[in-house]
Amino acid sequence: MALLDVITYGHPTLRKKAQPYGKNEIDTTFIKDMLETMYVKDGVGLAAPQVNISKQMLVCQDGEKEYILFNPKIIAHSEALYSNYEGCLSLPGLNAKVPRYEKVIVSALNQEGEEIEITAKGMLAVILQHEIDHLNGVLYIDRAELKTLSWTDAEFVAPELRGKMTDIDTLKTIFSEQNKDIKNLQFELIDYQ
Ligand code: ZN
Repeated sequence: MALLDVITYGHPTLRKKAQPYGKNEIDTTFIKDMLETMYVKDGVGLAAPQVNISKQMLVCQDGEKEYILFNPKIIAHSEALYSNYEGCLSLPGLNAKVPRYEKVIVSALNQEGEEIEITAKGMLAVILQHEIDHLNGVLYIDRAELKTLSWTDAEFVAPELRGKMTDIDTLKTIFSEQNKDIKNLQFELIDYQ
């Protein structure tokens, strides 16, 4: 098993539409690496584009249950939107309130290449919407209430920043420095608000 490198805000792969998986492309080593990376980095979900693989695959966890999904799609959702704080391994140390559907039905292939359907509500519904957005080149900051964007109290966040509000311009500065060796950085937000 191997820990995969997670790319961060600005990296152009995060803005690409990921390619669908063929059933014979499902690779158990990659699945294990994705799961290990999610758990080690303390995430509740990870999408393949976040490890610079522009393919439609995600892993996530909800309590005890673990999901490994290929070509997932939201095929139905409830109407009302509810806002909760979300973070993202590609925007480490940050969170913001994001409106999401309370309930979604997702179709996907499982790791055996079988068609499955998941009816999700609450936290799992939020995670699935967040991770499926990654497969479409969408980040939570595109949908977030940006006035709630703030630093978390994670250990790697500078003590003087913890809990403080921030804004997209500040993030552009920080992540362009962090990603300075990567070509064609993309910081523009997609307007969903
Ligand atoms: Zn994310």
